[in-house]
Amino acid sequence: MKITLLTGKTFDIENTFDFPLIIKSSLRIKRMSLRIDHKCREVICSVPKFCSKKRIVEFINTYLDWIEEKLSNLPAVKDFEDGEHISLFGKSVVICHQDDFGAPKLIEDKLFVGGDKAFLHRRVKDFIKREAKKEFFRRSQILADKLQVKLSGVTIKDTKSRYGSCSTLKHINYNWRIALAPDMVIDYLMAHEVAHLKHQNHSSAFWQTVRLLDVNCDEGKSWLSVHGNELFLYR
Ligand SMILES: [Zn+2]
Repeated sequence: MKITLLTGKTFDIENTFDFPLIIKSSLRIKRMSLRIDHKCREVICSVPKFCSKKRIVEFINTYLDWIEEKLSNLPAVKDFEDGEHISLFGKSVVICHQDDFGAPKLIEDKLFVGGDKAFLHRRVKDFIKREAKKEFFRRSQILADKLQVKLSGVTIKDTKSRYGSCSTLKHINYNWRIALAPDMVIDYLMAHEVAHLKHQNHSSAFWQTVRLLDVNCDEGKSWLSVHGNELFLYR
């Protein structure tokens, strides 16, 4: 198991812990604490900056039962399945596997997927990623035009933690899993990232800009705080 300190110092305590562990160290942290990151399925241990490796290991060892219980209670990771109903860009869609069907295709409310069933998840995921690239770019471009800011492109990412991010190069990264959220949540997340093209922070001017884009920030945020983790259950 590799432990990473935010100071850039890395030490290896392989064979000590058999769960994913991230050590966060900072001057601002006054005492050691543990939490479980539900999206990344990792144990996060926050430690004061000059804490010794020995003390960190001792601290974690005293909470092993708690960690095991928390990790084993995390909901199982999900694959897309034949017959499963999903929300895709705000529409209810059912996944239909057919051996002899070619590339995945959305026909009305059915997403037909061919090939070996063992690859169903991968095929559905690749389809959503391809469609998301077009759809999220289209929707973001409309919002960028409203704000009269330049959007240079959109990339679809498969990170386990973030919904999106915005670079200083006027480029937006979106997590493909956003495609599975309700439409108003997609609207909110697009407006959030497009507003970052104008403000690279979360200042009141930033939130005013998000609201200019006519999205329901409060509902979007509250849906994400309750259901956001469910999006990350998909592998
Ligand atoms: Zn933000």
